[in-house]
Amino acid sequence: MIISEGIVLRERNVGEQDKFIDILTKESGVLEVSVKGARKISGKSGSSTQLFAYSRFCLNQKGERYFLNSAEPIHIFYDLRSSLTRISLASYFADVLRDCINPESQSADILRLFLNCLHFLEKGSRSEAQLKAIFELRLMSEIGYMPNIIMCQGCGVFEPEELFFCIDDGSFYCADCFSEAAGDNYYKINLPVLNAVRHIVLTDFDRLFNFRVSDASMSVLAELSEAYLKYHLERGFKTLDFYRSLL
Ligand SMILES: [Zn+2]
Repeated sequence: MIISEGIVLRERNVGEQDKFIDILTKESGVLEVSVKGARKISGKSGSSTQLFAYSRFCLNQKGERYFLNSAEPIHIFYDLRSSLTRISLASYFADVLRDCINPESQSADILRLFLNCLHFLEKGSRSEAQLKAIFELRLMSEIGYMPNIIMCQGCGVFEPEELFFCIDDGSFYCADCFSEAAGDNYYKINLPVLNAVRHIVLTDFDRLFNFRVSDASMSVLAELSEAYLKYHLERGFKTLDFYRSLL
């Protein structure tokens, strides 16, 4: 028997009674779990297998497959459902996680990132744009695509007023060192946006959600982080397109 905390990223009904759920677990990446008689179960153990339920799961493993034994809810993010944009953004996050987190990978930091994003999204105490940028850039860093944002790749300057951030390799060049020959997959940004990227990528988790930038910088940051994720995962997401259609 496997006991793990995790959050439900997707649920799919199968037949009359059963369903499959995808769970982002703490220790074992994303697992697909069969829930027998799911639609007969009500109350506590029913709610613990709903979309965005954060629960303690007991699973039985048979070969490659996992079956739900029991589940105890820890927190159900009910209030996400009170806003179409919030639930849509959460669905996009869940889709990204299902795409890029392998089964059996160590995923405690990623689970923590997702839970914290949902917490602030549910409370409404951070803007959706900020949470989206944090989720995208921090996730990419955690899974091996950390941008190289310490200094200009040409001259080593740390704090240029204006700079060019390259989406391909996540490095930057100051205005003096940048050449158009580097291709066209870059964003021209200023120092506050660079510092926000640095904060998201490098800061300790406890301080991750504590930074402020102007609205103008936030919209550049939001575009950059989305482009960075899509480029490196080599795909788009329908849930992202839907979220954007609401803005
Ligand atoms: Zn330079």
